[in-house]
Amino acid sequence: MRLSQYFLPTLKETPSEAQIVSHRLMLRAGMIRQSSAGIYSWLPLGFRVMKKIEQIVREEQNAIGVHEMLMPTIQPADLWRQSGRYDSYGPEMLRITDRHDRDMLYGPTNEEQITEIFRDAVKSYRDLPQHLYHIQWKFRDEVRPRFGVMRGREFLMKDAYSFDLDFEAAKTTYNKQFVAYLKTFKRMGLTAIPMQAESGPIGGDMSHEFVILAVTGESEIACHRDFLDNDWLDNIDLEGDLQVVVNAFTDKYAATDERRDPEIEKTLGDDLVVARGIEVGHIFYFGKKYSETMGAVVTGPNGEDVTVEMGSYGIGVSRLVGGIIEASHDDDGIIWPQSVAPFQAGLINLKPGDSACDEACEALYQKLIDAGVDVLMDDRDARAGAKFADMDLIGLPWQVVVGPKGLKDGIVEVKNRATGERQEVTPEDAVKKLAG
Ligand code: ATP
Ligand code: MG
Repeated sequence: MRLSQYFLPTLKETPSEAQIVSHRLMLRAGMIRQSSAGIYSWLPLGFRVMKKIEQIVREEQNAIGVHEMLMPTIQPADLWRQSGRYDSYGPEMLRITDRHDRDMLYGPTNEEQITEIFRDAVKSYRDLPQHLYHIQWKFRDEVRPRFGVMRGREFLMKDAYSFDLDFEAAKTTYNKQFVAYLKTFKRMGLTAIPMQAESGPIGGDMSHEFVILAVTGESEIACHRDFLDNDWLDNIDLEGDLQVVVNAFTDKYAATDERRDPEIEKTLGDDLVVARGIEVGHIFYFGKKYSETMGAVVTGPNGEDVTVEMGSYGIGVSRLVGGIIEASHDDDGIIWPQSVAPFQAGLINLKPGDSACDEACEALYQKLIDAGVDVLMDDRDARAGAKFADMDLIGLPWQVVVGPKGLKDGIVEVKNRATGERQEVTPEDAVKKLAG
């Protein structure tokens, strides 16, 4: 991509409405613009990151055999009257009336919708389990939308729903999602800690919020120090036995809100960490809550009626864009982990108009593309300082700087955004380094 032909409206000034670093940086880096409170447009750079995150989520869901589908954003109120939630959901639900005076709503979640689809299609235990997901916009009329995309009113969520014959099967499904979540967040360069959360109707420990630590986190969490020690985490083989992996995490103390246990926290002593966290995902076993009220019943092996066991599994895709920035930035801007970076490299032409620089840049640009490196070339007619500042701000993992002085010696500079390390190399070696 040529920056001269791209849409990247970066800001030098810090926007006054933004209270936290990710919101500030997303506005400054030209990733989003606010439309109204808690509702944003995603500009090209922000959109790219969101799509990268979405794709990682998708791949890890597909890998455990969840089927992707797409349910609508607008739902009929009658569906929610079946579960009783139309009245109980409260003012977070955006209620709409259509031209025929029918009550509709902008979905805050999709349990009712998926349960209806399942109920009408699946009649026998032979067709279980079923496990489906979609990645769709939600609307919740939050009292206090804030922190940019972290607590929006309109936001993108991956939500999966499972239907199983009995508790044992539901637990296996839950464990699959648990481990898929660990892999998903790890691929994004995040340490997401599974925290026991408010329990489901049957009790037990079948509800976990996945929380990343950030000083700006909205909730206070407590956990064993080991969760912050990446070595320990790295030694767990996520491809191993499901239950063993889940136990490795759930055996260690980590809890939020009402699930915190003062007794355990006392015994942990120096191993206790109390910090602030951001919830990026939530998995939840809720048994027969919706299947009972909405009549999701199948015929069991002995001809009997069985009300199915359900779970739901959410990931805040748009929130993660902000969450990753909270976890990975410095004073100069964003530091994208490779896996979600909008481009892998920025190529800076320090002197557009200088034929040697132009030629070298064009050649490098083409070679990088040929080598499969997604590159953003700053070919704008602007000051070098402004180009460096913008490149640091948007946080691409690699920068390649081409200037007239270096070129005389056949050399360009490669900078690693995360470490700040700079190396002078030939253009050929720059391509090798970035492609490798
Ligand atoms: P919170 O406690 O943060 O309001 P929640 O418990 O309401 O979250 P869920 O209903 O479990 O959230 O939704 C699943 C995921 O969707 C959350 O883990 C979070 O990542 C994301 N999410 C929820 N509300 C918002 C929001 N207002 N803006 C952006 N993402 C959100
Ligand atoms: Mg909420």
